[in-house]
Amino acid sequence: MLDVVRLDSRYGRIPALTGVDLQVAAGELVALVGANGAGKTTLLRTISGVQPASGGAIRFDGQDLARLSARRRVQLGIVQVPEGRQVFGPLSVEDNLRLGAFARGSHDMLEHVLAMFPALEPKRREPAGTLSGGQQQMLAIGRALMARPRLLLLDEPSMGLAPRLVAEIFAQIADLKARGTTILLVDQNARAALAIADRGYVMETGRVVLRGPAAELLRDPQVQQAYLGL
Ligand code: ATP
Repeated sequence: MLDVVRLDSRYGRIPALTGVDLQVAAGELVALVGANGAGKTTLLRTISGVQPASGGAIRFDGQDLARLSARRRVQLGIVQVPEGRQVFGPLSVEDNLRLGAFARGSHDMLEHVLAMFPALEPKRREPAGTLSGGQQQMLAIGRALMARPRLLLLDEPSMGLAPRLVAEIFAQIADLKARGTTILLVDQNARAALAIADRGYVMETGRVVLRGPAAELLRDPQVQQAYLGL
């Protein structure tokens, strides 16, 4: 479904991605792990089109995305949940969800999405800014689901959450995959991300340095030492 080929991206003269190759097949959950500043967020933002590529190619279902705006990419079904949730604080939970269906998807998804996240239902008329961090993360994911994503890009969904909520968020992501959503997941919590993933990629300073089945990466001594604290 997604084919990233020798992708480069830079901030001014500073390279952030160098020759990145990455694939995601339909129905897969792929985890992308690596230290702060490795380029994970930049890669997601380049795929969704909010950060320009400076070389290489990104294909979605065989179609080259180079000339397509971020909005057009959403319309194709590439939907990103940004790092830090970025919900619209003064707007109600329900309006935040409805905005998710602005470029693609349907307001008919609303009740379905609220049913997936029971904590949001009683808060649907309250400003999103009054929600807890975990609830805001669920809202950010729910907002993306309103667009009926074909490829869901998840950036650091567990960031800043209490351990119990982290487990809940990862269980929700595993559930989305089980229902057939294709997911590219970035998370600092490499162990939890690889535990629910089919395959994984490890990035360092803008390059992919390791790739493979997630279970193999979890057993890899280099990964264990650098990212799993073993
Ligand atoms: P994190 O988990 O901290 O978000 P990351 O792996 O997602 O890390 P990126 O945020 O993609 O990494 O950053 C990759 C590199 O690009 C880093 O060296 C970072 O300092 C740099 N960078 C990121 N955003 C900008 C920006 N807006 N302007 C200049 N440099 C940037």
